[in-house]
Amino acid sequence: MKLLFELSRDNRKMDLIPPCEVETVQYDESLLRQDKLNLPQVSEVDLSRHYTELAKQAHGVNDGFYPLGSCTMKYNPRIDEEAASQPGFTQIHPLQPLSTVQGALEVMYQCKQLLMEITGMDDMTFQPAAGAHGEYTGLLLIRKYHQARGDDKRVNIIVPDSAHGTNPASASMAGFKVINVPSNEKGGVDIEALKNAVGEDTAGLMLTNPNTLGLFDPNILEITRIVHEAGGLCYYDGANMNAIMGTVRPGDMGFDCIHLNLHKTFGTPHGGGGPGSGPVGCKEFLKEYLPLGVVDKNMSGYGFIQPADTMGMVRSFYGNFLVVVKALTYIKSLGREGIKEASSNAVLNANYLMNRLKGYYDVAYDEICMHEFVLSLDSLKHETGVSAMDIAKGSLDYGIHPPTMYFPLIVHEALMLEPTETESRETLDEAAEIFIKLRELAKEDPHYLHDAPHNCLISRPDEVEAARKPILRYEFGNDQ
Ligand SMILES: *Cc1c(COP(=O)(O)O)cnc(C)c1O
Repeated sequence: MKLLFELSRDNRKMDLIPPCEVETVQYDESLLRQDKLNLPQVSEVDLSRHYTELAKQAHGVNDGFYPLGSCTMKYNPRIDEEAASQPGFTQIHPLQPLSTVQGALEVMYQCKQLLMEITGMDDMTFQPAAGAHGEYTGLLLIRKYHQARGDDKRVNIIVPDSAHGTNPASASMAGFKVINVPSNEKGGVDIEALKNAVGEDTAGLMLTNPNTLGLFDPNILEITRIVHEAGGLCYYDGANMNAIMGTVRPGDMGFDCIHLNLHKTFGTPHGGGGPGSGPVGCKEFLKEYLPLGVVDKNMSGYGFIQPADTMGMVRSFYGNFLVVVKALTYIKSLGREGIKEASSNAVLNANYLMNRLKGYYDVAYDEICMHEFVLSLDSLKHETGVSAMDIAKGSLDYGIHPPTMYFPLIVHEALMLEPTETESRETLDEAAEIFIKLRELAKEDPHYLHDAPHNCLISRPDEVEAARKPILRYEFGNDQ
């Protein structure tokens, strides 16, 4: 496929920039660039075809099954996009007088109220731009809490080994030392190890629940009690809220703060680096440390309050507002029953697919799972030489996006599948047949799978090279 620069021909252009609506200013001519600006010059139809061709080369939820574990690649209803594209939401500016954007503030306020109800928290900020950013913000809440009490010994954050990889990274970025606790044989937190890990230096615990094995920790109340008794706070990684929303609330399990991934659970497409939102909720006693600008309502309307001992800002303005519009649309269109039904079906679908595959693949922890489950292809690899990577690449030939590979780290040759609630039983059956077929192929013709995918434009890029030395610039020839 040709790049836009290669399609470019001199003077072939189109004018898509609308007339300027604001006053023009005079500037010093010497500030003008001296050399030619090498923008590609193509016609509108060529541009349209170029991007359509690019879109065809990617696999999205609208192309087929996308069971990428820990990512909740569900179908996002079109109505959410439509709501977020209304001019009253898109043609506004955060520096506009608040009296002129009351509707937008009401959206944030209503969404905050509903998410507080879903999580069992007392307040919430929409500033963080994504999940990991929310974790970082939540950890700063914990740090401010201990600092305000003059307790500077608390430097450790406890992170179970079944946590999402961002948890230890965020704790470390927020200036804490990470203490790892292992999982027990059932995939939950090892309670004895936790008891040994807590102490006067414990700032808090970060728990991914359901964890990256797709398991809900049955000892959750004991876990939060142990941490609280040691004087630490409990942080809930709520990126997997799709498994529990409408049924249980982290606030009722003893958690002090939480982040959500609106872009996973609440109706925003993601996966291409698109806009995210990682709102952070907290209990009453942490409210005063929230980032600047918490949306609120009083007699004169909607506005922002400045928390008394705020941590400042973690992002410009008020976060990715349009994602909040989508989340509110999503919650309101599902309603109280629908929210619960969505998570119940996500769990049902995961258990169905897991049980369809059980006789053919080893399930890492053979328990009832939540919204996702993990297979271990260790024995298949020993037997046939076919790895988790080979099976994942093979699934591409059948129009399935590969599951998450080699994660969580505590499972060898891991494949993590999260089907989500929006897939039909027929799609799950079809996917199960494909994975079963791939296993047969592994036994019959392992070499075929070592070279998979065979029907994609790109087969096996050097992933390390692509990540370490990406080519992101077009180099012009000398004549240009
Ligand atoms: C996706 C995810 C995160 C990180 O969210 P980002 O928006 O990608 O930063 C954190 N925790 C869990 C459990 C997740 O699944």
